[in-house]
Amino acid sequence: MSKTFTWLVTGSNRGIGFEFVKQLVASSANVVVATCRQPESATALKDLVGSAAGKLHIVALDVSDAASIKASAAAANEVLSEHGLDYLISNAGIMQAMDGPFDATEEALLTHFKANVAGPALVAQAYLPYLEKGERKVIVNVSSGLGSIGLAFGAKQASYSISKTALNMLTYKQAADRPDIISIVVDPGWVKTDMGGPNAQVEPQDSVSGQLKVITSVTKEDSGKYYRYDGENLPW
Ligand code: NDP
Repeated sequence: MSKTFTWLVTGSNRGIGFEFVKQLVASSANVVVATCRQPESATALKDLVGSAAGKLHIVALDVSDAASIKASAAAANEVLSEHGLDYLISNAGIMQAMDGPFDATEEALLTHFKANVAGPALVAQAYLPYLEKGERKVIVNVSSGLGSIGLAFGAKQASYSISKTALNMLTYKQAADRPDIISIVVDPGWVKTDMGGPNAQVEPQDSVSGQLKVITSVTKEDSGKYYRYDGENLPW
């Protein structure tokens, strides 16, 4: 029998997060804590529970709300207390403005920072005791190519891009602080979701299967690195 790994995914009710959960529960080797802001209206996730008996647990988690993050970690204890957490996928994120550096509002800058940087930071802090107990101890911060200075995507989507660059730095700091934990950044590609839109180039299935190959094969030597979903190493 293959070994069981435990996973937690944020923002798992739709888009890339939902695809992660779908692919993970397809394997009997995984137990998944699927988190989202409003479990009561997460119909696609709830539909999966029936076919994934005992492997899929839905927990409320709003990454922009520190109290919700703490409450989720307490609620997940029932699932994670025994084996700990092998993989934490900080996927939830927002992209709410097509702003530039000279017209980005204070509100847009702070809202993106809260969801895309403070959220993953506080989620990792709240779940650290479970990660310490897990076998793999992997944190995956789902960032974006737009967070790369080296890829030079230009002026627009400033609030979002700046927040993803900060998320990249959070990942570096996590890796530097804790050699016992693996923390990596992944760029899912331009993916057909509500955020990516219909013209995006990558299907959610392909992005997630690629990311899972990267995530499940990383070792401590890879910690603090920035990967595209197809395994390519990206410039910061
Ligand atoms: P979607 O907009 O399709 O889905 C976003 C998910 O994040 C939803 O489940 C949403 O939940 C959740 N979310 C947003 N804010 C919060 C919050 N405060 N607390 C909890 N959950 C929240 O985006 P994608 O699936 O496309 O993106 C997933 C990740 O991939 C994001 O981090 C994004 O930045 C990144 N990414 C996506 C790209 C793309 O082309 N799609 C490209 C590069 C990066 P709710 O339904 O409650 O709003």
